[in-house]
Amino acid sequence: MPQQITSHLPSYLSPDNPGPWGIFLEQVDRVAPYMGELSKWTDTLKHPERSLIVDVPVRLDDGSIAHFEGYRVQHSLNRGPGKGGVRYHQDVTLSEVMALSAWMSVKTAVVGLPYGGAKGGIRVDPRKYSQGEMERITRRYTNEISSIIGVNKDIPGPDVNTNAQTMAWMMDTYSMHAGATQPGIVTGKPIALGGSLGRVEATGRGVFIVGVAAAKDAGIDLQGVRISIQGFGNVGGTAARLFTEVGAKIVAVQDHTGTIYDANGLDVPALLEHVQQTGGVGGAANTTAIAADEFWAIETDILIPAALEGQITKDNAETVRARIIVEGANGPTTPEADDILNQKGVVIVPDVLANAGGVTVSYFEWVQNASCFYWSEEEINQRLETIMSNAYNSVSATASEHGVSLRTAAFITACTRILEARQLRGLYP
Ligand code: NAD
Repeated sequence: MPQQITSHLPSYLSPDNPGPWGIFLEQVDRVAPYMGELSKWTDTLKHPERSLIVDVPVRLDDGSIAHFEGYRVQHSLNRGPGKGGVRYHQDVTLSEVMALSAWMSVKTAVVGLPYGGAKGGIRVDPRKYSQGEMERITRRYTNEISSIIGVNKDIPGPDVNTNAQTMAWMMDTYSMHAGATQPGIVTGKPIALGGSLGRVEATGRGVFIVGVAAAKDAGIDLQGVRISIQGFGNVGGTAARLFTEVGAKIVAVQDHTGTIYDANGLDVPALLEHVQQTGGVGGAANTTAIAADEFWAIETDILIPAALEGQITKDNAETVRARIIVEGANGPTTPEADDILNQKGVVIVPDVLANAGGVTVSYFEWVQNASCFYWSEEEINQRLETIMSNAYNSVSATASEHGVSLRTAAFITACTRILEARQLRGLYP
């Protein structure tokens, strides 16, 4: 892949290791030919609107002072306020946050939410700090980025190593400055602070909705359909439960504790209970353990990577024996693997569409906060179903129109919407 993008890379990116931002630039180049008269605006996508780097100085429990580097990037605000999570990780870089913010622009546009794309992060290993230290880091970071976030400017949410409690601290810090409680400043809050019903299972439910649509398009009957899932947490576990409820068989599951298989279908409720009690699927009763590297070659109808990025690579893509892949995780398929799978005729429902259920219900949370009127879980699930189904249908129609993969179609759909907004707004001044 570096070969393909060398000529387009800015001088600060190494061709040997373009990183996430280099990958995004390549994705823009791939869709540019489909942008028609909007193509003169394509470079807009290669320049995040605003990137903020902040120092986060914090007094640690032992009295010493530590400095952490924090980021907030707003990639595109053309279609509405920025939206995107905050990641706490020791390896977070500005380049990574830029790419993640750009993928949020794409994701919100694919599903038609009135948002742009943003992302934040702090370069910190949260396992090394106490709860009190993490609270102080979160509050100081919130304070430092408060000049660019806002209920109608940019709305953070949780991501890797951040959760509902982190959002509660962010909301409280921002509200203290505003002089009034501002629940809509973040999403993914605890229910008691204005969080939304249905948010926890929204991403897995979205994976299920588009998975069902893709199976229907491929003429696959859900009754007895075979599904393998990597990751049995929030996303993978919810998707497994919903697919089982409509008659599918979950034949294999892999998580960080093991890989289990049952050709007749695993007992998903019992497995969810086992994971609840032990933290992973390894050692679950009445299951057969298999070697981790056998997982990708299992014959299955639908494969759902719902754990980590970069899992399906050029080294294992050839062995994949699935008809459909639904990307619950972000970036589980490398660009080289994507090419191999496309050649093999595997249908891939890309992450920017497949896992957009989470940001969709985050949008519902923000709408409910703004209107101070809260919906039932049934109402939320119905609205989620409508948005995800419409998005799938629109991307699928674009794929047929241009004869391209669903991933390219998702980028065409999203970039067209972003650049159309850009063109209509024009340049200021
Ligand atoms: P989670 O922490 O609830 O579950 C993660 C799962 O991955 C666990 O089952 C864990 O055992 C498994 N895992 C970890 N390391 C592994 C390894 N080396 N090999 C195999 N399995 C491993 O996380 P989640 O919320 O379910 O998120 C899963 C993925 O979905 C992530 O990529 C996340 O970025 C993406 N995602 C989540 C949401 C959301 O709303 N939760 C939204 C969009 C995308």
